[in-house]
This record gives sequence, structure tokens and C-alpha cells, in this order.
Amino acid sequence: MRNTRYVEIMNEITPITPTLLEGAIGDAIRVCEVAAPTGREERRAELVIHKLRNIGWTVERDGAGNVLAYWNQRPTKPLIVMAHLDTVHVGIKNIKVARDENVLQGPGIGDNSMGVAALLYLARAFRGHQGPLLLAATVAEESVGNLRGALEAVEDWNPSEVIALEGAGVEHLITSGPGSIRYRISLHGQGGHSWEDRSQASATHALVEILSQIGEEQSCESWNIGKISGGGIVSARAAEASAEIEFRDHSAEKLENAKQIVDQALQNLPKGLTGQKEMLGRRPGGRTSQDHPLVQSALKIREQYGLSQECAAVSTDANAGYGAGIPSLCVGLTHGELLHTQQEWCDVSRLEDSLNSLAQLVWERTSAI
Ligand SMILES: [Zn+2]
Repeated sequence: MRNTRYVEIMNEITPITPTLLEGAIGDAIRVCEVAAPTGREERRAELVIHKLRNIGWTVERDGAGNVLAYWNQRPTKPLIVMAHLDTVHVGIKNIKVARDENVLQGPGIGDNSMGVAALLYLARAFRGHQGPLLLAATVAEESVGNLRGALEAVEDWNPSEVIALEGAGVEHLITSGPGSIRYRISLHGQGGHSWEDRSQASATHALVEILSQIGEEQSCESWNIGKISGGGIVSARAAEASAEIEFRDHSAEKLENAKQIVDQALQNLPKGLTGQKEMLGRRPGGRTSQDHPLVQSALKIREQYGLSQECAAVSTDANAGYGAGIPSLCVGLTHGELLHTQQEWCDVSRLEDSLNSLAQLVWERTSAI
């Protein structure tokens, strides 16, 4: 079912045609086949720049390495639509995407080649558009990148609103994302014989103890002990031990509180042990109210295209917007599974609806802000 305003809107922007739809799928495949692990997005960035310039957009880069495109004039307080270039897939040579009708399979096809393809679709649909629109292909979204690209784009452009694109996740509208904070904590001592030095503090004993203490005291929506290592042999007091831990919560206050709990635990170690904590990463989080016109518009348009009204919490580039207090959301384009594995696949059956509803949302928001 088409919105009654569809014709009006689609007179201003190019409607999706079978050729454009196939073009978007072709773009996703080409983008996917250029490897872009976090920190090494350059070749994929060059491909995207080439395509954007061919369509007629003015392209610039920033210090983070983001690709930023606008039509003729640099917009002020724009709507930024962003899709991350990077993937979690390190060291795969010769990425090949397999296609079986509506199903595409390849590492990073949904996360986030399809998102980048949707950005290129918008570049085609919004040729000549005069609204305050900035298209951003961002770097460093995946875990080790800590949203460096999205954070820089939000800081530099001070957007009115942010829409992030993810290739997977068409099943819901993402209107919130938990922030996270990650540490490696390491304990060091003298160690010794397990019987003769049994009164000597052991790093492994102390680590187990402080981890259970942290677990009891912290109050985040989730916390995780991702990795534990330390000690040497079964008959020795451990001289060293370490753990990598993560906290996730929508509230910056709760994350700050978790940090203090970790600091306190490290200050109260048994005599003979020292402890350090090292920050492995931090990303902001937050949410956009259901009542905000950005969310309201998105839900209304999704309803017209028969897309689900469910709202979900996922950490995406939109987190950079939530963290800065800017109305933000994230749109998923297809149904995808096995993300972050080499068997990742996505089903493009709903791509026409998701691209049309995305175009309509961008058109409405750039007209409203
Ligand atoms: Zn991902």
C-alpha cells in the first residue's frame, strides 16, 4: 500500500524502480567484496567516493576518515544519514558474495554493505535535493572503533537529527542503544609455592573475588566477563591474573557508577598485590523518545509500507547522536542473520519497502527541520 503523499514526494525525489532496486543490491555486493576491517576502510571509502561523485554529490573527508557528501552547498544543522563502512572481518582475502534469488551471503553483506548501498540509493534518489541533508559513510563503528567516525561527524556538523543505516534489522525500528564501557583489569604479586607460601596473596584468588564483588555491586543492564587469564601451574600461588570486562547501560550515570565500583575494588586488594585497569573502549548510549516527531514519522511511514512498529535497543552509529542529545534512530534494511560471522546472510525481500520508506522519511525530515 502506498501513502497518498507518495506521488507528491516521489515527484521531488526519484522513486525506486526495478533498475534502482537491482542497482542497490549490486552496490551492496560490490561494496562487500572490497574488504574494510575497522581501521582499514580506505579502499572501500574510495569506491564510495567514486560513486557519490559520479552521481554528482560534493564529497569531502574529515580527520577521522569519514566520507561526507552534500548537494552543492555545505548544509548547516543538517539531517545526517550515516552508514558505517567498516566490518569485523579481519584478514579475509577475496570476499565473494553468493546470491540465490533474494538471499545474499558473504561476510559483512548485511553489516554493513547493505547500509552503504542504501546510502548510495539515497544519493541517487535525492539528486538535486535542496534540503539540509548530509550523507556520511563513517569509519570505525565496530567494537574496537568505538564509533570514532560517527562521533566526529556529530561533533563537526552539529546535526538536527541523525538516521543511521544498518543492512540488517528490518524487523524493528531502532530508537535506543545502550552505551558501553570496557576494561582490562590486571593484578600482580609475587606468587610462590602453593603450600610453603600459602599465606602469600594470589592474583588468581583475588581476581575471582573482586569479579564477584563487582558483579554484586554493579547495577547496569548487562555486565560481562569476556575473558579471564592468569596463573601458571596448579602448585603455585599466581603472580598475575587479568580479566576483560564490559558494562552496558542506556544511562551514562550507571556506567560511571560501574567505573567507580571497579576503581574501589582495585584499591582494596590483599596485601602484596597491585592492580591496574586499562580502558579498552567506551561508547555513548541513550534513547530518542517515542513522542519525538522523528520517531513518530518513521513509525507512521513504516506502517504504510507494512513494516513492523516494534522499537528495539541496539548499539549502532545512532548512539553518537543519542549521547549528544540529538534526536536519532537507526533503520535496518533487510532481514539478516549470522552477523559478525563469515556465513552472514541477508534476505532482500523487503528491500523495496525499506528503501521507499527510508526515502520518504528522509524527505519528510529534511522538509521539517
Ligand atoms: Zn556489526
